[in-house]
Amino acid sequence: MEDLRNIRLSKSVIGPEEIAAVSGVLSREYLGMGHEVQLFEEHLKEYFGRNVCCVNTGTAALQLALQALGIGPGDEVLVQSLTYVATFQAISATGAIPIACEVMSETLTIDLDDAKSKLTSKTKALIPVHYSGGVGNLDNIYKFCRSHNLRVIEDASHSFGSFYKGKRIGSFGDVCCISLDGIKNITSGEGGIVITNDNEVIENISDTRLLGVQKDTLNRYMGQRSWDFDVASQGWRYHMSNIMAAIGIVQLQRFEQFKFKRQLYAKQYQRRLSGIVDLLNCDYSQVVPHIFIILVKPQKRDAYRKELQEKGIQTGIHYKPNHLLTYYSGNQDNSTLKKSELLFDRLISLPLHPDLSTSEVDYVIENVLSLVKS
Ligand SMILES: *Cc1c(COP(=O)(O)O)cnc(C)c1O
Repeated sequence: MEDLRNIRLSKSVIGPEEIAAVSGVLSREYLGMGHEVQLFEEHLKEYFGRNVCCVNTGTAALQLALQALGIGPGDEVLVQSLTYVATFQAISATGAIPIACEVMSETLTIDLDDAKSKLTSKTKALIPVHYSGGVGNLDNIYKFCRSHNLRVIEDASHSFGSFYKGKRIGSFGDVCCISLDGIKNITSGEGGIVITNDNEVIENISDTRLLGVQKDTLNRYMGQRSWDFDVASQGWRYHMSNIMAAIGIVQLQRFEQFKFKRQLYAKQYQRRLSGIVDLLNCDYSQVVPHIFIILVKPQKRDAYRKELQEKGIQTGIHYKPNHLLTYYSGNQDNSTLKKSELLFDRLISLPLHPDLSTSEVDYVIENVLSLVKS
């Protein structure tokens, strides 16, 4: 029997294959970065058709990518305010300043007119966040960045497996970072991937993820360690472990099933809720959604969430705009960010993960319909 009283917003989807893979690593007693990480990177290289480097979180992927591009103190990075705080923390970790931008209502991706008004001589990069899995108008983002000489670091944490105009996210563009945390489209427990054709970036991150120890990645992949080594730049202990990679390898093999379920449920929500509540403009035959959001009247949002919780339906809010957080509130004139604040007050994320059933999604839909129609 399905428990319609306990529908989780999101969850990890772990089966016997992941458990066996982790047991294998544990029994071989080599838990750090070695064979499994190398293998996972090979599989990902094949999947994206580009060079990759695995690290321990999506946040670390973004930070190391920025650092590899030479972005640091005194620099500014344009980014939408409506994103997970990880995007902002990755920027400020390098010493650069995140400059919060507005989003487009239809996709909740960065508003380039607003970004343009925030360009200064210090602007070095733009991080487009592929909110919910959709990428907005990525062509325009690249055109904008080329014409203003900005590097692009895509935060594709929501969009593993998504396509844009027939091309897989991560298989083109400048630098793409993806999170593999427990509830993302695929997971390695925790983890992150940097994908790019820029080999200098990959070489830099291969060292910086291992405290800056030069060529340590190569040595570890040969089962060795570096003893007499050099360090020429600030590094971090951000590498991926064999335990994590073992989970990731299995999840990548299972991804087509996860993708099918995520798209199926998003289409089911979209079909029955469109025209009744505001939804994102998204083609779920291209996009593999990480979350499914609805936009409701701001004065109703909290009451709806409470009523859904009483029906056993967990919901979320993705996200509180970062310019409202104490640490980032003084970066700029926040009066330009009213739209993000209003959108925040209207957002509800509905349950979305591959372990849901069609009848559970129907149950959520029925409850949403009865709320908004009453
Ligand atoms: C999850 C997430 C990240 C960071 O990933 P972690 O692996 O949790 O560090 C970054 N940006 C966005 C938009 C995310 O959702």
